[in-house]
Amino acid sequence: MAAGPDVQVLVLGGGPAGARAAQRLASAGADVLMLEAEDYGRNKLCSGLLNHEGQVALGCELPQSVRREPFEPRLEFHDLDSRLRRRYSPGYWNMDRPAFDAWLCDCAAEAGVRIEYGRRASRIECGPAGPQARVGSDVISARVVLDATGWRALSRKLLAPPELRSAPVVHAFQGSVHCDLPADSMWALFESDTTQYYGWLVPKGAGSFLLGAGFPQGADSTRREGDAALESDPDPWKKLSFVEASVAAAAGEELQHLDAKPLGCPITTITSTQQLWWGRELVFPLGEAAGLVSPSSGDGIHFGLEQANALADALSSSGLLEGRSSAGCSAQDSHQGMLNQVQARLRPALAELRFNCIKAWVAARPGPRRLAAQFMGLYLRRPVEQLAPVAVPAAEAQ
Ligand SMILES: Cc1cc2nc3c(=O)[nH]c(=O)nc-3n(C[C@H](O)[C@H](O)[C@H](O)COP(=O)(O)OP(=O)(O)OC[C@H]3O[C@@H](n4cnc5c(N)ncnc54)[C@H](O)[C@@H]3O)c2cc1C
Repeated sequence: MAAGPDVQVLVLGGGPAGARAAQRLASAGADVLMLEAEDYGRNKLCSGLLNHEGQVALGCELPQSVRREPFEPRLEFHDLDSRLRRRYSPGYWNMDRPAFDAWLCDCAAEAGVRIEYGRRASRIECGPAGPQARVGSDVISARVVLDATGWRALSRKLLAPPELRSAPVVHAFQGSVHCDLPADSMWALFESDTTQYYGWLVPKGAGSFLLGAGFPQGADSTRREGDAALESDPDPWKKLSFVEASVAAAAGEELQHLDAKPLGCPITTITSTQQLWWGRELVFPLGEAAGLVSPSSGDGIHFGLEQANALADALSSSGLLEGRSSAGCSAQDSHQGMLNQVQARLRPALAELRFNCIKAWVAARPGPRRLAAQFMGLYLRRPVEQLAPVAVPAAEAQ
């Protein structure tokens, strides 16, 4: 008799998508092994905001240790091209992202997931005996492999058809600053001459803020290499100097650097839902590995949580994990059966993602962005204010 796989479910990556799927599957009785490349409590570059959909998908309150003040910040939207400002409450929860991820991993461990930190998978393979992953010199086989490796998207690189093998990204840079701005609000700054995406300033308590910006690939060669460029840059803060100057000009406040240097990280930024990668033969990409990040806001945690819930529920009730599949049903047939259920449940999220692709197109263009901001102001009966003109630094001044 052929030996069974090493484990029922192998999860690669212990971010929100992987940890949530692992927890839910283990709670339903599955044997789950989760491998995380980094150490416990790893720092994930993120502004740490969880939107309403993410709060619903989470389904519980956040522990105090994960919350940051103000817990539900107001948003200052500044369009520095057209000098428009809108203020509203987007309903985000403000979190410490490393603490959030560590808490999700703790919840998974409590549910019975075996977690191994410092274990980076190098390959995922689909074979006649089922999927397997290589980790160092080990080969681990499983009934299903969940690829939750974030922007690195291991299965996309190895198993996707050529046209899907790489997803577009925006390169984000972020560092901590101190300033005396009112700490009840976060800021989103649009300025196409400089970031061509947007910049943000998010309060994290005690006068500290996360300052960041995203730069599309190809926007400017000095802004798109990510961490490697920052490591060798004698003054990495200059990557953010335009956003910093814009905040200082708009708010009349100087910012003080708290980190020696900001860090860089790509954000997967699809331009169409055709670029999503759904995996094959019982290798399921989850969260950012699938491409599920809003291209307009950069929010991705909620998509990962929603997809993890949907896939875990579909797998738990399928019999696949126990090795029961319909007679004559191939691995790809079983895969498609799971996907149909997941995509049906994600229909509202996918509709939102399609809308986000349009919003991202609008936000990258000053004219359409101005019209959209005015329309939203009227439609939502929230006043759009005209900012006083300020000199915005020119891109060449870098
Ligand atoms: C600067 C910035 C700000 C952001 N702000 C927000 C925000 O405020 N709100 C929001 O909702 N989203 C935000 N995002 C997006 C959000 O961070 C991602 O959508 C989210 O982290 C995706 O979760 P995930 O679990 O899919 O992947 P990740 O959180 O990236 O987790 C992937 C994990 O896999 C591990 N891994 C990678 N390769 C391997 C391997 N080969 N083997 C084993 N493990 C591996 C990694 O170490 C990592 O822990 C931001 C992103 C950036 C870059």
